Amino acid sequence: MHVPLVVLGGGPGGYAAAFLAADLGMPVTLVERDERLGGTCLLRGCIPSKALLHVGRVLAECRELEDWGVHLARPKIDLGALRSRKDKVIATLTGGLGTLARRRNVTVVRGTARFTNSTTLEVVSAESGGSTQTLTFDHCILASGSRPARIPAFDIGSPRVMDSTGALELADVPKSLLVVGGGYIGLEMGTVYAELGSKVSVVELTDGLLPGADRDLVKPLQQRLEKLFEKIMLRTKVVGLEDTGSAVAVRFEGPDGPSEKEFARVLVAVGRRPNSDGIGLENTGVKIDARGFVAVDGQQRTADPHILAIGDVCGEPMLAHRASHQGKVAVECLHGEAALFAPRAIPAVVFTDPEIAWAGLTEQEASASGRAVEVSRYPWAASGRAHALGRTDGLTKMLVDPESDTVLGVGIVGPGAGELIAEGVLAIEMGCSARDLAETIHPHPTLGETVAFSAENYFGLATEIYRPRAEATR
Ligand code: FAD
Ligand code: NAD
Repeated sequence: MHVPLVVLGGGPGGYAAAFLAADLGMPVTLVERDERLGGTCLLRGCIPSKALLHVGRVLAECRELEDWGVHLARPKIDLGALRSRKDKVIATLTGGLGTLARRRNVTVVRGTARFTNSTTLEVVSAESGGSTQTLTFDHCILASGSRPARIPAFDIGSPRVMDSTGALELADVPKSLLVVGGGYIGLEMGTVYAELGSKVSVVELTDGLLPGADRDLVKPLQQRLEKLFEKIMLRTKVVGLEDTGSAVAVRFEGPDGPSEKEFARVLVAVGRRPNSDGIGLENTGVKIDARGFVAVDGQQRTADPHILAIGDVCGEPMLAHRASHQGKVAVECLHGEAALFAPRAIPAVVFTDPEIAWAGLTEQEASASGRAVEVSRYPWAASGRAHALGRTDGLTKMLVDPESDTVLGVGIVGPGAGELIAEGVLAIEMGCSARDLAETIHPHPTLGETVAFSAENYFGLATEIYRPRAEATR
């Protein structure tokens, strides 16, 4: 069968691309090996983790009510019901994607695809006993995503050692859990298990949690996690795992030398790898970099004129909203539009408690590149809303170009930071000056005000922060 456009992969990159192509009147075929559309994000990533984090956050809020004189009985957790509720969220959304695909006349082919040359895919059907279908195409948008990185020494064949997919299945709430990797997944899933009752320890190779994130933002999170978690081990390496039959014995090497401890379960969350191998890319002109990412230009075109690539398979940050956005750019290019993937800011959110969110330039990037920036910090201790919520541990910070007053970067830590960052992303994309934000009337009392207040603070004129006149220079 010949098709003008095939999209390989039904995740947030692939389905966004296929749906836009259909909306623009392009006949499109979507190949997906999973029974359901949605990819990593919907089936075993963003959505199930956020459903569980929502429950964790409500449990924490119930505990915090003690400070307000409200005493609730200890919650009883019906794990089966919790699992079903989470699975229902996924089922509803993946069902919705199926309906949207049908209504748009997107042809969905269920099966595992492999390139045999630059214009041909062989698809081994998942449904009809492994039969093979050949699809020739004018263009293919590759959106095959990524998978958890594995450390061979940790592959001990033990059901007690799991990756993020296993952790999201929530088979049980182990008495103790070791999380290897203090990144996005480690801290989000560590939070879920800790809130559900596990004693969680985290081991991180580098000298800080979330190595890529702004240290000002990580600090309040780390302080809270030090109370929620049993232990956080930094600059520490796992050098051995052994299933003892009732637990996993883990050997560590850290700043204080070697140590050993048993855990009921281990979650390995040490990054993700692109799905660029095993799909026949060597039979095409596509180029792959040293880390396995497919090389693309600003229009998502690979070195092969018939193949474009989007999402996790073509680089970092491996985030769903980047994948979808790139999917739209790829389709617009094929549709003959002058589209380009050149965002000024791709927001990042870690959905822990507090949440951490940032967009645009970070302080670390500015100092590494020697770029002069002015940093304005607005501590939430100065926000009435934060006091009313009992959460003064937050911070909103802004990086501003001192020559033009243009907002270059925004970082937020605190409950709801993931929602609040959208204003910062828009400000950076629109080239707003700090004055634009300071002079925009924000509703009171809200945490959103802290974005405007940090802009006011850049001018030394934030109402709730006193700065001696000599310091208020602008
Ligand atoms: P994927 O979603 O990985 O989809 C690729 C699809 O291609 C899959 O469905 C796969 O089955 C299919 N496929 C692969 N190879 C073949 C083949 N040969 N034939 C047919 N089909 C194939 N990102 C966020 O932005 N926010 C979050 O909160 C967030 N939380 C996350 C939590 C977890 C636990 C994890 C693991 C990830 C999370 N992510 C989050 C990352 C996000 O899931 C990915 O960035 C996103 O899914 C990438 O989209 P994609 O379309 O590139 O690939
Ligand atoms: P990550 O890159 O965020 O974190 C991995 C961590 O493991 C790093 O801190 C790294 O230093 C550490 N590490 C690596 N090897 C180690 C070892 N041997 N021992 C101890 N620590 C080690 O990766 P992740 O948490 O697996 O998540 C993968 C990707 O998925 C993320 O980078 C992100 O792109 C995406 N994701 C996003 C979200 C979100 O947007 N909220 C949530 C989950 C995942």
